[in-house]
Amino acid sequence: MSASHQSGSADDRAVVWFDIDNTLYSASSRISHVMGHKIHAYFLKLGLTHDEASELHLRYYTQYGLALRGLTRHHDIDPLDFDRQCDGSLPLEDMIQFDPSLRKLFEDIDRSKVRVWALTNAYRPHAERVLRILQLDDLIDGLVYCDYRVENFSCKPEPEFYQLAMKQANISDPSKCYFIDDNRGNIDGARAQGWAKCVHFCEKGLEAVEGGRTMQIGKERAPGAKSDDDVEIVTSIEELRVVWPEIFKI
Ligand SMILES: [Mg+2]
Repeated sequence: MSASHQSGSADDRAVVWFDIDNTLYSASSRISHVMGHKIHAYFLKLGLTHDEASELHLRYYTQYGLALRGLTRHHDIDPLDFDRQCDGSLPLEDMIQFDPSLRKLFEDIDRSKVRVWALTNAYRPHAERVLRILQLDDLIDGLVYCDYRVENFSCKPEPEFYQLAMKQANISDPSKCYFIDDNRGNIDGARAQGWAKCVHFCEKGLEAVEGGRTMQIGKERAPGAKSDDDVEIVTSIEELRVVWPEIFKI
Protein backbone atom coordinates (compact mmCIF):
# COMPACT_ATOMS: atom_id res chain seq x y z
CA MET A 1 0.00 0.00 0.00
CA SER A 2 1.31 3.43 -0.88
CA ALA A 3 0.15 6.68 0.63
CA SER A 4 0.73 8.58 -2.54
CA HIS A 5 0.78 7.63 -6.16
CA GLN A 6 3.95 7.84 -8.18
CA SER A 7 2.76 10.11 -10.94
CA GLY A 8 3.88 9.42 -14.45
CA SER A 9 2.47 6.63 -16.55
CA ALA A 10 -1.24 6.95 -17.25
CA ASP A 11 -3.50 4.27 -15.82
CA ASP A 12 -6.84 3.88 -17.59
CA ARG A 13 -8.34 1.64 -14.95
CA ALA A 14 -11.27 2.88 -12.91
CA VAL A 15 -10.80 3.43 -9.18
CA VAL A 16 -12.96 1.83 -6.51
CA TRP A 17 -12.94 3.99 -3.40
CA PHE A 18 -13.80 2.36 -0.08
CA ASP A 19 -14.63 4.31 3.03
CA ILE A 20 -13.08 2.55 6.05
CA ASP A 21 -14.85 3.22 9.37
CA ASN A 22 -18.32 1.69 9.72
CA THR A 23 -18.06 0.46 6.12
CA LEU A 24 -15.32 -2.18 6.20
CA TYR A 25 -16.43 -3.26 9.65
CA SER A 26 -19.83 -3.22 11.34
CA ALA A 27 -20.96 -0.19 13.31
CA SER A 28 -22.01 -2.72 15.94
CA SER A 29 -18.30 -2.91 16.86
CA ARG A 30 -19.13 0.32 18.69
CA ILE A 31 -15.85 1.91 17.66
CA SER A 32 -17.59 5.18 16.82
CA HIS A 33 -19.39 4.97 20.15
CA VAL A 34 -16.14 4.66 22.11
CA MET A 35 -14.51 7.25 19.87
CA GLY A 36 -17.41 9.56 20.68
CA HIS A 37 -16.70 9.18 24.39
CA LYS A 38 -13.03 9.96 23.88
CA ILE A 39 -13.86 13.05 21.83
CA HIS A 40 -16.36 14.12 24.49
CA ALA A 41 -13.64 13.76 27.15
CA TYR A 42 -11.36 15.87 24.96
CA PHE A 43 -13.97 18.62 24.81
CA LEU A 44 -14.30 18.51 28.62
CA LYS A 45 -10.56 19.03 28.96
CA LEU A 46 -11.00 22.27 27.06
CA GLY A 47 -13.13 23.47 29.97
CA LEU A 48 -16.57 22.86 28.47
CA THR A 49 -19.51 21.47 30.42
CA HIS A 50 -21.05 18.13 29.43
CA ASP A 51 -23.95 19.89 27.69
CA GLU A 52 -21.68 22.27 25.80
CA ALA A 53 -19.43 19.38 24.81
CA SER A 54 -22.34 17.32 23.46
CA GLU A 55 -23.77 20.24 21.54
CA LEU A 56 -20.47 21.32 20.01
CA HIS A 57 -19.43 17.78 19.15
CA LEU A 58 -22.63 17.22 17.18
CA ARG A 59 -22.49 20.66 15.57
CA TYR A 60 -18.86 20.27 14.43
CA TYR A 61 -19.52 16.78 13.13
CA THR A 62 -22.54 17.81 11.08
CA GLN A 63 -21.07 21.14 9.97
CA TYR A 64 -17.53 20.03 9.13
CA GLY A 65 -17.82 16.26 8.62
CA LEU A 66 -15.36 15.81 11.45
CA ALA A 67 -15.34 17.05 15.06
CA LEU A 68 -11.65 17.84 14.79
CA ARG A 69 -12.26 20.33 12.00
CA GLY A 70 -14.37 22.44 14.34
CA LEU A 71 -11.86 22.01 17.16
CA THR A 72 -8.96 23.28 15.06
CA ARG A 73 -11.01 26.20 13.75
CA HIS A 74 -12.54 27.42 16.97
CA HIS A 75 -10.20 26.21 19.71
CA ASP A 76 -6.45 26.23 20.02
CA ILE A 77 -5.71 22.53 19.92
CA ASP A 78 -2.97 20.33 18.49
CA PRO A 79 -4.57 17.89 16.01
CA LEU A 80 -1.83 15.32 16.54
CA ASP A 81 -2.45 15.37 20.30
CA PHE A 82 -6.17 14.96 19.57
CA ASP A 83 -5.39 11.98 17.33
CA ARG A 84 -3.22 10.33 19.98
CA GLN A 85 -5.84 10.76 22.69
CA CYS A 86 -8.84 9.77 20.57
CA ASP A 87 -8.28 7.46 17.57
CA GLY A 88 -4.81 6.45 18.72
CA SER A 89 -6.01 5.17 22.09
CA LEU A 90 -8.82 2.95 20.78
CA PRO A 91 -8.34 -0.76 21.56
CA LEU A 92 -9.11 -1.64 17.94
CA GLU A 93 -7.58 -5.11 18.13
CA ASP A 94 -10.24 -6.04 20.71
CA MET A 95 -13.07 -4.39 18.79
CA ILE A 96 -12.78 -5.59 15.21
CA GLN A 97 -11.68 -8.86 13.73
CA PHE A 98 -10.37 -10.25 10.50
CA ASP A 99 -13.28 -11.27 8.27
CA PRO A 100 -12.28 -13.89 5.67
CA SER A 101 -15.30 -13.16 3.47
CA LEU A 102 -14.38 -9.47 3.27
CA ARG A 103 -10.83 -10.35 2.26
CA LYS A 104 -12.24 -12.75 -0.35
CA LEU A 105 -14.41 -9.95 -1.73
CA PHE A 106 -11.32 -7.77 -2.19
CA GLU A 107 -9.41 -10.68 -3.74
CA ASP A 108 -12.22 -11.23 -6.23
CA ILE A 109 -12.02 -7.68 -7.57
CA ASP A 110 -10.56 -7.75 -11.08
CA ARG A 111 -7.37 -5.70 -10.86
CA SER A 112 -6.99 -5.61 -14.63
CA LYS A 113 -10.09 -3.40 -14.68
CA VAL A 114 -9.92 -1.38 -11.48
CA ARG A 115 -7.63 -0.11 -8.79
CA VAL A 116 -8.74 -0.22 -5.16
CA TRP A 117 -8.21 2.73 -2.85
CA ALA A 118 -9.36 3.67 0.63
CA LEU A 119 -10.82 7.13 1.26
CA THR A 120 -11.14 8.08 4.91
CA ASN A 121 -11.72 11.06 7.16
CA ALA A 122 -9.39 9.51 9.71
CA TYR A 123 -5.70 10.25 9.99
CA ARG A 124 -3.23 7.80 8.51
CA PRO A 125 -2.22 5.73 11.60
CA HIS A 126 -5.85 4.83 12.43
CA ALA A 127 -6.67 3.97 8.82
CA GLU A 128 -3.60 1.78 8.43
CA ARG A 129 -4.27 0.07 11.74
CA VAL A 130 -7.82 -0.84 10.75
CA LEU A 131 -6.70 -2.13 7.34
CA ARG A 132 -3.98 -4.20 9.01
CA ILE A 133 -6.37 -5.80 11.51
CA LEU A 134 -8.81 -6.60 8.69
CA GLN A 135 -5.87 -8.02 6.68
CA LEU A 136 -6.71 -5.83 3.72
CA ASP A 137 -3.55 -3.71 3.69
CA ASP A 138 -1.95 -5.73 0.88
CA LEU A 139 -5.12 -5.48 -1.22
CA ILE A 140 -5.36 -1.69 -1.16
CA ASP A 141 -3.46 0.22 -3.84
CA GLY A 142 -3.53 3.53 -2.03
CA LEU A 143 -4.92 5.46 0.89
CA VAL A 144 -6.31 8.99 0.96
CA TYR A 145 -6.66 10.26 4.51
CA CYS A 146 -7.12 13.52 6.38
CA ASP A 147 -3.71 14.98 6.91
CA TYR A 148 -3.96 16.41 10.41
CA ARG A 149 -0.53 18.04 9.99
CA VAL A 150 -1.84 20.41 7.33
CA GLU A 151 -3.56 23.56 8.52
CA ASN A 152 -7.21 23.63 7.34
CA PHE A 153 -6.91 20.12 5.91
CA SER A 154 -9.94 19.04 3.91
CA CYS A 155 -12.19 16.04 4.51
CA LYS A 156 -15.30 14.39 3.04
CA PRO A 157 -17.76 15.77 1.96
CA GLU A 158 -15.81 18.85 0.86
CA PRO A 159 -15.16 19.09 -2.90
CA GLU A 160 -11.43 19.62 -2.35
CA PHE A 161 -11.06 16.26 -0.65
CA TYR A 162 -12.46 14.29 -3.59
CA GLN A 163 -10.38 16.38 -5.98
CA LEU A 164 -7.28 15.69 -3.90
CA ALA A 165 -8.15 11.99 -3.90
CA MET A 166 -8.43 11.90 -7.71
CA LYS A 167 -5.13 13.72 -8.02
CA GLN A 168 -3.41 11.27 -5.70
CA ALA A 169 -4.81 8.28 -7.58
CA ASN A 170 -3.93 9.96 -10.86
CA ILE A 171 -7.42 9.67 -12.29
CA SER A 172 -9.08 12.55 -14.14
CA ASP A 173 -12.39 11.03 -15.25
CA PRO A 174 -14.95 11.08 -12.39
CA SER A 175 -17.22 8.74 -14.34
CA LYS A 176 -14.60 6.06 -13.61
CA CYS A 177 -14.93 6.47 -9.86
CA TYR A 178 -16.76 3.88 -7.79
CA PHE A 179 -17.42 4.77 -4.16
CA ILE A 180 -19.01 3.20 -1.11
CA ASP A 181 -19.55 4.97 2.22
CA ASP A 182 -21.91 4.58 5.16
CA ASN A 183 -22.43 8.35 5.34
CA ARG A 184 -24.99 9.70 2.89
CA GLY A 185 -23.53 13.20 3.01
CA ASN A 186 -20.20 11.80 1.82
CA ILE A 187 -21.99 10.13 -1.08
CA ASP A 188 -23.65 13.45 -1.94
CA GLY A 189 -20.21 15.08 -1.94
CA ALA A 190 -18.88 12.46 -4.35
CA ARG A 191 -21.93 12.76 -6.62
CA ALA A 192 -21.40 16.52 -6.75
CA GLN A 193 -17.96 15.80 -8.19
CA GLY A 194 -19.46 13.56 -10.85
CA TRP A 195 -18.41 10.27 -9.29
CA ALA A 196 -20.66 7.96 -11.19
CA LYS A 197 -20.99 4.70 -9.29
CA CYS A 198 -21.85 5.55 -5.73
CA VAL A 199 -23.23 3.14 -3.18
CA HIS A 200 -24.61 4.05 0.23
CA PHE A 201 -23.88 1.35 2.79
CA CYS A 202 -26.86 1.14 5.16
CA GLU A 203 -26.16 -1.65 7.57
CA LYS A 204 -29.16 -3.45 8.96
CA GLY A 205 -29.95 -3.67 12.66
CA LEU A 206 -28.23 -0.47 13.70
CA GLU A 207 -31.32 0.75 15.54
CA ALA A 208 -29.89 -0.98 18.59
CA VAL A 209 -26.59 0.89 18.37
CA GLU A 210 -26.74 4.11 20.36
CA GLY A 211 -30.48 4.22 19.84
CA GLY A 212 -29.93 4.44 16.09
CA ARG A 213 -28.04 7.72 16.33
CA THR A 214 -25.16 6.43 14.21
CA MET A 215 -27.64 5.39 11.56
CA GLN A 216 -29.47 8.70 11.74
CA ILE A 217 -26.31 10.77 11.28
CA GLY A 218 -25.25 8.45 8.47
CA LYS A 219 -28.44 9.22 6.58
CA GLU A 220 -28.24 12.98 6.74
CA ARG A 221 -27.95 14.63 3.35
CA ALA A 222 -25.40 17.24 2.38
CA PRO A 223 -26.78 20.79 2.08
CA GLY A 224 -28.12 21.35 -1.43
CA ALA A 225 -28.03 17.66 -2.36
CA LYS A 226 -30.43 16.65 -5.09
CA SER A 227 -33.51 14.93 -3.72
CA ASP A 228 -33.93 12.75 -6.80
CA ASP A 229 -30.32 11.59 -6.94
CA ASP A 230 -30.49 7.85 -7.45
CA VAL A 231 -27.81 6.12 -5.46
CA GLU A 232 -27.64 2.37 -4.90
CA ILE A 233 -28.18 1.23 -1.33
CA VAL A 234 -26.66 -1.97 0.04
CA THR A 235 -27.15 -3.50 3.46
CA SER A 236 -24.04 -5.67 3.25
CA ILE A 237 -20.70 -5.25 1.47
CA GLU A 238 -21.25 -8.63 -0.23
CA GLU A 239 -24.01 -6.99 -2.27
CA LEU A 240 -21.36 -5.08 -4.19
CA ARG A 241 -20.96 -8.23 -6.28
CA VAL A 242 -24.52 -7.62 -7.50
CA VAL A 243 -24.39 -3.84 -7.75
CA TRP A 244 -20.96 -3.65 -9.42
CA PRO A 245 -20.73 -7.03 -11.25
CA GLU A 246 -18.38 -5.58 -13.87
CA ILE A 247 -15.51 -5.11 -11.40
CA PHE A 248 -15.43 -8.72 -10.16
CA LYS A 249 -13.54 -11.63 -11.69
CA ILE A 250 -16.29 -14.11 -10.92
MG1 LIG B 1 -17.63 5.69 7.52
